[in-house]
Amino acid sequence: MELMPYQWQLQTWKRLRSLNSQERLPHALLFSGGSGIGKQHFAECFARYMLCSSPSEHACGNCKNCLLLQQGSHPDLMTVVPDEPGKPIKIDQIRQLSQKLSGTAQQGGYRVVILNPAEEMNINAANALLKSLEEPGDRTLFLLVSHNPGRLMATVRSRCQSYPLALPEEQQAMEWLHQQQVDNPELLLRLSAGAPLRALNLHQHKGLDRRQLLLKGLSATASGRSSVVDVAVVWQKESPIQMLDWLQSLINDMIRYRSAESVDNLTNSDAESLILKASARIPGEKLFAFADRIQEYRQQVTAKTNPNRQLMFEDLLIYWLELIFQRR
Ligand SMILES: [Zn+2]
Repeated sequence: MELMPYQWQLQTWKRLRSLNSQERLPHALLFSGGSGIGKQHFAECFARYMLCSSPSEHACGNCKNCLLLQQGSHPDLMTVVPDEPGKPIKIDQIRQLSQKLSGTAQQGGYRVVILNPAEEMNINAANALLKSLEEPGDRTLFLLVSHNPGRLMATVRSRCQSYPLALPEEQQAMEWLHQQQVDNPELLLRLSAGAPLRALNLHQHKGLDRRQLLLKGLSATASGRSSVVDVAVVWQKESPIQMLDWLQSLINDMIRYRSAESVDNLTNSDAESLILKASARIPGEKLFAFADRIQEYRQQVTAKTNPNRQLMFEDLLIYWLELIFQRR
């Protein structure tokens, strides 16, 4: 069981510990920040710290409470998440939570609620939570985790003390990735916008191999070695959002290269030759139009209108070829 927050979260950790020792800890905390920086981990570590019977700098890991936490069966830790990823947190879940909170703590200490991602509460759920936030009861701590606190109901937000969690410095993130024995940490980190847990996830899911399908497809269609249809057949087997995001990232690099004429800050540092060749051929405004088109498809995919993936990728590849050969 992990007890310590990540290196880049230690400042916030110390601040919260100090508030707690002065008995000034608010009853609701909001941990916000981009995805893949370890917010959930931080909330879990802090929940364990608050439930531990003899914490020092972190939960002890050995007491009865810690053992219950380790087994995932501590009755005073309540975690509320959507039933399925991408689905809302519903009012029934919050009602069940309120029911539990109306009793007393079973182990005689704190009761801790982790709600993640808090912005996925639908409006009824958020309204129901509001009541608990207003009258939390004794020794009850709410830990709300949010990738997008702007989407959280303002009345809920205003009842929480906000703790934005930051991205680590590049050096810190690289060290952490080295410790996880990741190959090519620099590229993974760039592709993950500096978020180390996203980079690790990409590594664990063989993201770089899958991204090669995108790079090879673009080169192979441009050189006439593969047909648009054949490449789209390969691409449509992959996560459409991921493929669109990687394509977008390449186009962004082409735009960046055209304006800066430098390869220093390219995200796709391993695709330099493709980026240079394409940006030499395609005028800037056409690249922006291509980026818009990718975004339109991305919106369709996230809105779950389910565009035909084969046709979507064929269309994007045809667009790509028309730009490369300047027929558009
Ligand atoms: Zn303990």
